[in-house]
Amino acid sequence: MPSDDLCGDLFGDLFEEAERQLTICNSCRYCAGYCPVWPALELRTTLKREDMTHLANLCHDCGDCLTACMYAPPHQFAVDPPKVFAEVRQDSYRRYVWPQRKPGPRATGLAFTVVCLVLAVLSWLFTGRPFVVADTPGDPYEILPHTPLLIAVGAPSLWAAGMLGWAALRYWRDIHGSMAGLFRPRVWATTFHQAVQLKHMTGGGADCERPGRRGYHRVLLYGFGLCVVSTTSAAFLQNVLGVHPPYGYLSVPVISGSAGGIAMLVGGTGLWVRSGGTGFLWALLVLAATGMLTLLFRETVVFGPLLLLHVGAVVVAFGIAPYTKFVHGIFRTLSIHHDNLER
Ligand code: SF4
Ligand code: SF4
Repeated sequence: MPSDDLCGDLFGDLFEEAERQLTICNSCRYCAGYCPVWPALELRTTLKREDMTHLANLCHDCGDCLTACMYAPPHQFAVDPPKVFAEVRQDSYRRYVWPQRKPGPRATGLAFTVVCLVLAVLSWLFTGRPFVVADTPGDPYEILPHTPLLIAVGAPSLWAAGMLGWAALRYWRDIHGSMAGLFRPRVWATTFHQAVQLKHMTGGGADCERPGRRGYHRVLLYGFGLCVVSTTSAAFLQNVLGVHPPYGYLSVPVISGSAGGIAMLVGGTGLWVRSGGTGFLWALLVLAATGMLTLLFRETVVFGPLLLLHVGAVVVAFGIAPYTKFVHGIFRTLSIHHDNLER
């Protein structure tokens, strides 16, 4: 595992550049009312690496300060807070997870292919037939029995939850968040409201400089939340009430999953068109697309292969989540919470 010292060396030039720009900002203070970054900066007379990490993750990249800045390039001061904060954020996504190497597109594609092939072989072994057709339309356990399906999805989910939880604790400790601060329900209520609304992406009040980005971002976030509701309600129906899938078209898992899948496709595509694709965005789009296709064709012969593709997408998406932009939601929420506590 690379040490923090090595990270510190790699971070050195970036930190110096960020510190140079923010020293100018701290004298100028023109942007004081734009977003919480600026009042938080004023509270800090000297900037350390962890302060910079906190400020960078508090920034929602709306771009309003850059638009307003009289010292932005081509001025010789070359002040560009959104750009330097984005680079510091990238550093933080790597700093708190293990291993710190993030998988590239080729490795992710290879992993997806291998996982799907392994699932297909498992399905063949357990059902005794290749490309099995479910006798009961839409029954996933006729494609892959409950236990191997649970292990296939549960193992990467537990890995992601453990690694993200560990990264969150390291991040919180690094930005000097107090343990007592984690147990402040009223402040958490404010934090969650600001986080899900992406309130700080409004910058100076005129919404994000890249039109539509905040809206698509929110649609994607709410879609992901609905898919979590779908999975949780399906688990509740099966394990608590003893109602097994397939669930009806008007059931909670199907309605929330369909609405969530459509929202993720709309939000993800919109963000991809506006801001460009990231590995994480691609993983979410593949996840949503295979999920929707599985539902749409659940009464046909392609249900089995589509289900295995969807499970493969879930396995890979959860497996790589700690090494993708997924962590930005956690770090940003913690920085918003730390900022609310400071106030
Ligand atoms: S971004 Fe520009 S205008 Fe805003 S505080 Fe910094 S130097 Fe001043
Ligand atoms: S949120 Fe917007 S105004 Fe605030 S620092 Fe980031 S880019 Fe600038």
